[in-house]
Amino acid sequence: MMHYPPSIRRLIGRLQALPGIGEKTAERLALHLVRVQRKEAEALAYAILNVKEKVRLCARCFGLSDTDICGICSNPSRDASLLCVVENVSEMIAIERSGAYCGRYHILQGALSPMDGIGPNDIRIHELLLRVDEGEVKEIILATNTHLEGESTAIYLSELLEGRPVRVTRIASGVPLGGDLKYVDQMTLKRAMETRHVLG
Ligand code: ZN
Repeated sequence: MMHYPPSIRRLIGRLQALPGIGEKTAERLALHLVRVQRKEAEALAYAILNVKEKVRLCARCFGLSDTDICGICSNPSRDASLLCVVENVSEMIAIERSGAYCGRYHILQGALSPMDGIGPNDIRIHELLLRVDEGEVKEIILATNTHLEGESTAIYLSELLEGRPVRVTRIASGVPLGGDLKYVDQMTLKRAMETRHVLG
């Protein structure tokens, strides 16, 4: 590291701060960037700045979007009577990749976790109830992760939704207990979505 000029050392340091990038990879990427044409480096720098400027949370589902309302929420061919509740954007992307779902989403931005001080007011539960009360949603599919926090969140939500005129289902087995949805393969996720069941 010390053999590099300060500007390259700085770049290696920045790259190394990214998740999944170790010192060797950071070094390799930095040296690659030194070699590329200026316009390629500019395009990378611009792409990074552009996501920082443009990306925000969709005002309806709290997924990532370049506009106030995201592409899925504003797509009229998506089934507005189905609402799939997930913890984070990565799970939404995993379900989209499975191709098994044509409804809309609600991204909670986390799961209930009393141990970490995350209660119902810290995730987007209130906004979920507002969407349900609009009356368009007929089925809520609880697709939170199958680890403890995800399960507790699903149970909490199913109790909260009791008495409201919606069918509440939970994605079915096939998803390993204690597992993270984003690591589940597409087929398993597809089957889990197809064989969802009514809770309680
Ligand atoms: Zn949206």
